[in-house]
Amino acid sequence: MQFTRLRLRGFKSFVDPAELVIEPGMTGIVGPNGCGKSNLVEALRWVMGETSAKRMRGGEMDDVIFAGSSRRPSHNLAEVALNLDNGSRTAPAQFNEMAELDVVRRIERDKGSTYRVNGREVRARDVQLLFADQATGANSTALVSQGRIGHIINAKPAERRHLLEEAAGIGGLHSRRHEAELR
Ligand code: ATP
Ligand code: MG
Repeated sequence: MQFTRLRLRGFKSFVDPAELVIEPGMTGIVGPNGCGKSNLVEALRWVMGETSAKRMRGGEMDDVIFAGSSRRPSHNLAEVALNLDNGSRTAPAQFNEMAELDVVRRIERDKGSTYRVNGREVRARDVQLLFADQATGANSTALVSQGRIGHIINAKPAERRHLLEEAAGIGGLHSRRHEAELR
């Protein structure tokens, strides 16, 4: 699967609708301090099902919603959409008939998040598993935030095994087994 487009609305500093086309190959984001580079990477992490407000550099999840500025009032809603090219047909069975996937996460103040794939409401879990199978996802080794390298070096063996499993794309299998055991 390929990421092809990222759309943001009311997410952190991206108060106005913004769209980023992700071409094949390498994409770089450059800009002065505070212009929103990390916020863009966090939008990717968030739409893939991140559940930790701390990893989004906030106190609670509502903090991803545009908080207002001296000139503009705060918003009550944030939405991030990620388009995926599933031409290779590697998405989980429930999504695999679709050649293109439009994954949308929306949060409303005090109401929590909802997720949709191609317009159909799905569970957070479905979105998390979709990306865990692709060895990406909110917690994956594909996203390395500032300070994370030191954390990996100092990790305990069990935690490092977890990282290797995610990099190998079998994180989704473990999550599914865990879910089955809870039933
Ligand atoms: P650096 O080069 O320093 O790493 P950066 O380009 O990564 O900078 P970000 O950390 O993405 O910058 O953006 C920080 C900006 O986003 C700050 O100005 C901060 O006030 C703003 N911001 C974060 N959350 C919100 C929010 N909920 N509402 C409005 N603005 C926000
Ligand atoms: Mg940054």
